[in-house]
Amino acid sequence: MMDLKNKRVLVVGLGKSGLSAALFLRGLGARVTVSDARSAVALAKEIPALLEAGIMVEAGGHGLLTFRRQDLIVVSPGVPMDTPEVKQTQAFGLPVIGELELASRYLQGRVVAITGSNGKTTTTTLLGKIFSDAGGPTLVGGNIGLPVIDLVAKSTSETTSVLEVSSFQLETVEEFHPQIAVVLNITPDHLDRHGSFAAYWAAKARITERQGPEDFLVLNAEDKETQMVASKTKAQIYWFSARRPIKQGAFVHGESILFIPSEGAKAEPVMPVAEIHLKGAHNVENVLAAVCAARLAGVPAEKIRPSVASFKAVEHRLEFVRMVNGVEYYNDSKATNVDATMKALASFPKGIHLILGGKDKDSDYAAMAELLKERVKIVYTIGSAAEKIERQLQGVVKMVAAGTLQTAVAEAARAAAIGDVVLLSPACSSFDQFDNYEHRGQVFRQFVNELKQ
Ligand code: ADP
Repeated sequence: MMDLKNKRVLVVGLGKSGLSAALFLRGLGARVTVSDARSAVALAKEIPALLEAGIMVEAGGHGLLTFRRQDLIVVSPGVPMDTPEVKQTQAFGLPVIGELELASRYLQGRVVAITGSNGKTTTTTLLGKIFSDAGGPTLVGGNIGLPVIDLVAKSTSETTSVLEVSSFQLETVEEFHPQIAVVLNITPDHLDRHGSFAAYWAAKARITERQGPEDFLVLNAEDKETQMVASKTKAQIYWFSARRPIKQGAFVHGESILFIPSEGAKAEPVMPVAEIHLKGAHNVENVLAAVCAARLAGVPAEKIRPSVASFKAVEHRLEFVRMVNGVEYYNDSKATNVDATMKALASFPKGIHLILGGKDKDSDYAAMAELLKERVKIVYTIGSAAEKIERQLQGVVKMVAAGTLQTAVAEAARAAAIGDVVLLSPACSSFDQFDNYEHRGQVFRQFVNELKQ
């Protein structure tokens, strides 16, 4: 723990976690300033509480002097590390950390951290449920719901904190040290911000940087990029696989999920795969990762089974909305990259009407060509990425330039036949036409709910 009393601390970026970090630091007696690129008008909701707490606010941009005057800088995950003021400050040798790092210096108890390109929220939520169903004091937070800093006050030495951690959060860790770390998969995402796949991979791999031989690292045996994280760890490595038996970890064998606690030990039955109520093979992987982490944390198999069996899809993740005129509608608004959309396509054998597009993240949509040919009847393009998608998928699949989500739903409803599926799984972020992916998913649900039987 750091003694921050009377120290000057700057929090850069006033999102949910920035706000929490500022109030937390103030509570420690630090002299806190917050700096955000948004205008004072845009921050009107946050500013009064900050001033009330005795926190100084710099809105509408970052002053280099504000940065230089500090003892510590805490950067929010939404603020790129190559923001000029942040880079210059680092060059001066001032300590720059993220909210996750700050929080983990104060968080008590056991930490289970989950990262990956896709499946983090699903796996984190499920694992949180398994721990709390098993009866231990459990906190869930991070890139999902509550910022980690908000868990600090509730944590004790008995607590298990299940944390969803993103590449942006991991980019700025130093002492962050989970006792159990999980890497679900690493596929291209956020390349617009990390600059290269190598940089993105390196950020993810930092989840294990501080782990030692008494800790556990859970890795996906079927994902090459994830396998390579094994070379970066001192922790004990456990694997999960939906395809084949492995020596140590969780896997599917026949119709069942099994767990092997150590090499050479007998496999323990955990549960039948048929009891998983989530759509798609990718969700079996998420369950395997959660099962493995839960067993390593000492939760017995007979307690894991009912927890998993009663777990339903998290909102906006292949969420079933409604059946209209024999057509099923699924909201997968959280599919904000190509890999997630491919997983959604793989979950339905045929007859898919796919709504694709939004804000592009330097993605390669052609990677979906095979799945599109095999399973998709029509693609409806929306948003600013539409033109690029249409160019890359020219001749692969029938496409309708819908422009907006409303038109896409209407066109798809008109074209779909009984037994078809209308799927919003856009492979893009939402910020061109919506506030965020939740907003996009809600709007989609609303249009679907307005369709006439
Ligand atoms: P994250 O928090 O990593 O974004 P979510 O659980 O919110 O992950 O799921 C995001 C999207 O990725 C959804 O469209 C979901 O269907 C898909 N998805 C979930 N798990 C996986 C996985 N293991 N591999 C690939 N895609 C996945």
